[in-house]
Amino acid sequence: MAVNYANFREIDIADYDAVVVGSGFAGAVTARELAEQGGMNVLVIEKRGHIAGNMYDEYDEAGILVHRYGPHIFHTNSQEAYEYLKRFSAMSSYQHCVLADWFGTYMPVPFNKNSMEIAFGDEKAARLIKKLVDTFGDERKVTINELRAQEDPDLQEVADFIYQNVFLYYTQKQWGLTPEEVDPSVTARVPVFLSRDNRYFQDTYQGMPEDGYTKLFENMLGHEGITVCLNTEAESVFDLVFASREEDAPLEAIRIKDQEFDGPIVYTGPLDELFLGRFGRLPYRSLDFVYETFDEDYHLPCGTVNYTVTEDYTRITEFKWLTGQRGDKTTIMKEYSRAYEDPSTQIPYYAIINDDNDALYERYRRLTDELPNFHPLGRLAEYRYFNMDKVIVDALAASKRILALADGLDPEAVDAVSGATTAAAKGE
Ligand code: FAD
Ligand code: UDP
Repeated sequence: MAVNYANFREIDIADYDAVVVGSGFAGAVTARELAEQGGMNVLVIEKRGHIAGNMYDEYDEAGILVHRYGPHIFHTNSQEAYEYLKRFSAMSSYQHCVLADWFGTYMPVPFNKNSMEIAFGDEKAARLIKKLVDTFGDERKVTINELRAQEDPDLQEVADFIYQNVFLYYTQKQWGLTPEEVDPSVTARVPVFLSRDNRYFQDTYQGMPEDGYTKLFENMLGHEGITVCLNTEAESVFDLVFASREEDAPLEAIRIKDQEFDGPIVYTGPLDELFLGRFGRLPYRSLDFVYETFDEDYHLPCGTVNYTVTEDYTRITEFKWLTGQRGDKTTIMKEYSRAYEDPSTQIPYYAIINDDNDALYERYRRLTDELPNFHPLGRLAEYRYFNMDKVIVDALAASKRILALADGLDPEAVDAVSGATTAAAKGE
């Protein structure tokens, strides 16, 4: 069925059993589960003028399906996440490939045996590949940090080449930091791969929703128990009640339309925004996107080209590779990474993970610890670098937990029922 949209001013909050803030995967999966499995009436409030969070896609003026908040390719080893999505959309079997533009020569990323031959020539590459395979094993993935820690001069030469030509400039553009300064988990997402496999991901399940993500979200949120209010910001409609006027006083209740709301509240926006940045803003990286359309079938040799040594944008994506759309026009998108400075005009895309920022996040999180019906969930609310599949799996676990709690089970019994630990359900 179609999504049931309503104007927030016109809804009666007493009609709802649960409130979900945000309509990305964290919000949409939870809303669907609470409505379908729990028979709840769920109110979704979304500050943008559309559903689907960062996965939102739409047709541009040239009739090309484009992603508006960064290129999104679904990949997972979780059968649960994949099967869940397939309930709402057929999935293509698209396998993403990325090439680095190395001073005008293309080489596969993750850097692999084929990249090695392009960089070093066949003869030298054969010797270096043998040494890498003898050290780490064939078909193994090695992080750039592991490789740089090697003492052997040949391995150091390889590490140095990859560091200088794949990671250094791209990371400086993306994060405003060197690879040493970003959390090791960030560069570990793109390891060196001792293989001939040119795909960006090796996950069991990969693909794209056949009719696009927005359509998938329409199917997920199109349920008789779900109402969606667009252009509605949590900060403007939640009245936060604190235990005292102290800065660190915990949140005791949330009032909506002058009534205390005691049903589950799933919050998937940034936590600092909800508390109006009282301890200082959580740092993020933002992005600007620049689109161009060409009268060509294809403009690039693959879905994404990373500019690892030149240009001031990080990467260009050509959507037709991802979506499988055909036709004599094509649209590409350049990504420019920026500091996140102005919440009123920019979008927080990437949490900047480090000890100080984690501590600041925890301070916000503690404000919510004593409100048992408040559930922070997803990439923003948990201040983490989650892929879509992780958010879907976490949202399914959190929904089970919320439903079991609503049935009056105690938290330990709930975790046993849902098969998830408390930490996993919270996505920790
Ligand atoms: P979001 O999708 O950000 O949804 C949050 C929603 O909450 C938004 O709609 C927002 O408008 C709304 N909201 C926020 N605050 C409020 C508020 N105060 N009041 C009301 N509404 C609010 N993952 C992959 O698996 N594959 C990829 O290829 C991939 N590519 C990516 C590319 C980029 C550039 C980025 C930034 C991320 C990418 N991801 C990818 C990660 C993916 O975007 C996230 O995993 C996913 O968006 C998480 O869903 P979410 O619901 O937690 O957050
Ligand atoms: N990275 C890089 N060069 C590349 C690809 C990735 O330096 O060609 C580093 C960079 O720091 C980036 C991180 O690896 O932020 C993770 O890359 P990924 O492609 O996973 O980023 P995302 O798609 O999430 O933006």
